Amino acid sequence: MSTGRSSTSTRTSSMTRPLPLINTTSGVSAITRSIQTGSMNVTINTARTRPLTGVRQGSTDRTNMSTRNNIPATTSLSQRRMSNDLTRSRRSSQDRSTVTINPYIINGAVNESSNDYLKRRESNGFNPTSTTNTNEEPTNAKASSIDRQNSHSPSPLESRLKHGGLTGLQNLGNTCFMNSVLQCLSNTKPLLLFCFKDDLSEYLNTSSTSVMKGVLMREYANLIRKMWTSSDGHSIVSPSAFKNTIGRFAPRFLGYAQQDSQEVLRYLLQGLHEDVNRVQRKPSPIKIDEKAEEKMKERDRAKLSWERCLLYDNSAISDIFAGQLKSTLECCHCQYQSITFDMFWDLSIPLPRNKSSSSVQECIQLFMSKEDLDGNEKPMCAKCKQKRRCTKKFSIQKCPDILVLHLKRFSQARGRTKLSTHVDFPINNLKLDDLTDVMSESYEGPVPTYNLFGISNHSGTAYSGHYIAQCKHPFTNQWHEFNDSSVYSLSDKSRIISSNAYVLFYERNK
Ligand SMILES: [Zn+2]
Repeated sequence: MSTGRSSTSTRTSSMTRPLPLINTTSGVSAITRSIQTGSMNVTINTARTRPLTGVRQGSTDRTNMSTRNNIPATTSLSQRRMSNDLTRSRRSSQDRSTVTINPYIINGAVNESSNDYLKRRESNGFNPTSTTNTNEEPTNAKASSIDRQNSHSPSPLESRLKHGGLTGLQNLGNTCFMNSVLQCLSNTKPLLLFCFKDDLSEYLNTSSTSVMKGVLMREYANLIRKMWTSSDGHSIVSPSAFKNTIGRFAPRFLGYAQQDSQEVLRYLLQGLHEDVNRVQRKPSPIKIDEKAEEKMKERDRAKLSWERCLLYDNSAISDIFAGQLKSTLECCHCQYQSITFDMFWDLSIPLPRNKSSSSVQECIQLFMSKEDLDGNEKPMCAKCKQKRRCTKKFSIQKCPDILVLHLKRFSQARGRTKLSTHVDFPINNLKLDDLTDVMSESYEGPVPTYNLFGISNHSGTAYSGHYIAQCKHPFTNQWHEFNDSSVYSLSDKSRIISSNAYVLFYERNK
């Protein structure tokens, strides 16, 4: 209990909402796993009606996967979870006060669209202006991994895109939540470059392991290409075709109600991942020799677990966003440890309780810190053969290229509430290995540092508010603010860090 936690804090650690799996029909059902612990609840709601890429052993029956009754042997089932929703929230007094929208001083609207983009538009089947392309022939997703870009020598494509992307998105009616996420993703360099691949259609997964059969990715790429090649002088693009498509994938986004930007991000990444998943056939159920694995070195187990994940979830999207999280459950009586590994797509990190200000580093440490599992929620220890008080702890086993940090400002406890805690965060050089007990002991190689390149900001209350995005251009490194159809240059970096920050996008320093 040493990692910078507020002594008065009572945490509710929850693994809520992994990247949800959406049924082709409509509903999202939830399989819930609960790890009840003393005053803390750890729940995993796997909002999936089917596994992501096919039926994997244990994929739809994970009620016993974790610590509820038994310490060991969670690896096999936990592999199924592609996204972590390893979120830790806390019970706290929530601030319901209204946060007013910052009266930003506008530095001047951006009008940098280059005239010659249209001439150089690609004509490779992805029509930047068409919204559907149903005649595209189904092709197999490529097995190769996405090209790593060398930032030192810009490719012709990078040179071509250098002045693009400063395009506003029309608000279709309460769609600022989606627009702010789209702008952050639009400025995610590896994803942007992927969307411009000449042979993108060859990556599309039209098999049964994708609900949308490539349509979502195709629509997304069309939108991004429009945003990066728009040169009509207005630099505003309508995302309506894309919105309709994501509404087909996740019907909850069909209407025009205000939604949560982090939730739409999850659906979006899930859908795009499926659409370019290299796994196009359900793998056979895997038998895991847990006893043998327990004898392996931890780093070998982690690698094996990762490879097992890739048998199901392996795409250009997971190449970019997925990392690996280690979970350690330790019996306080016999010190027996049960270790499991999970793929994560973002980290939902809690804000410290009863503090008006914090830092993202503190929030990450809070997420990773040990928590007690006690009281009537003690897990069963396999060695003691009885319920024991245990500690549970997360740490990072593998760092993603793009690290998405979701600040858990919203809580459903006692009605929907929002925390307006000011959270400071570094724009450059977020150092994970400077933090206490955040990296796994068996982490291999140098720990990367991360630079911020996107923020989804929410201003307002839990019930009404507005989203904007602030993003660093992937080629010019200039910051801009995207407020629906308006784009502003953001020369004053002090405006980047505010209590409106909600989802942070960090890129690994190469
Ligand atoms: Zn024990």
